[in-house]
Amino acid sequence: MTFQSHIRVRNLNVHYGREHALKNISLDIPDKKITAIIGPSGCGKTTLLKSFNRLIEPVDGISISGSVCVDGQNIYESGVDVTRIRKKMGLLSQKPYPLPMSIFDNVAYGPRIHGVRSKKALKEIVERNLRMSSLWEEVKDRLNTPASALSIGQQQRLCLARGLAVEPEIILGDEPTSALDPRSSQRIEQRFLELKKNYTIIIVTHILRQARRLADYVVFLYMGKLIEHGPAGEVFENPRQEMTREYIYGVIS
Ligand code: ADP
Ligand code: MG
Repeated sequence: MTFQSHIRVRNLNVHYGREHALKNISLDIPDKKITAIIGPSGCGKTTLLKSFNRLIEPVDGISISGSVCVDGQNIYESGVDVTRIRKKMGLLSQKPYPLPMSIFDNVAYGPRIHGVRSKKALKEIVERNLRMSSLWEEVKDRLNTPASALSIGQQQRLCLARGLAVEPEIILGDEPTSALDPRSSQRIEQRFLELKKNYTIIIVTHILRQARRLADYVVFLYMGKLIEHGPAGEVFENPRQEMTREYIYGVIS
């Protein structure tokens, strides 16, 4: 598969003190596709995802080497505007963390920080992004009530809307459906399949069925090493590495 890459990782190493969490990772993440990072617990999936957003920083015994280029720029170079990089990416964590404010203000939060003042514009942004996250119909009559009153599944969609409202290019999801009931998970998955027309989406998942349903491209990590990466059909149907085969068939976990 030849593709245009959106993120280019070269020789990335991350150490947490003595723990060598990512071992010389090099890969390209395709533009406007869904990439799934799979592998057992503790293999470095979250660390790799966070490195794309520079949420891994060389502080408190953490060391990083190698490069992560987003749109051609190495985000680990000194002097890089971290805020600008992060604005390109919306991050969904395992559990939704709505801000302690109303539904409306949660979605308007980012745009306000970026200087949108007009009430009309904000209303428009809030509606558009709640629709994109398929939450609008459920909340349109109570936009000024606290976000904390929503169900967990609704909160996760709210967090997606909040992330989309800053107009990112890349959506990062760290096991974004793990706290959700099956119905809510399905809604998030459907959103991702629609959003990939316009966004590069990267999700971490340890649910192989979810990776099969969603992924165009698969990255398999095991104990900090990149074992295999490639188009989902190839990795799942005809893996090159014995270890990938064993993981897919549940021999190793
Ligand atoms: P995964 O998401 O695949 O479960 P992680 O990226 O969270 O894996 O972790 C990879 C390894 O790095 C694990 O051994 C974990 O214990 C370790 N690790 C992760 N974060 C930290 C941290 N902040 N400090 C020390 N060790 C960490
Ligand atoms: Mg993790």
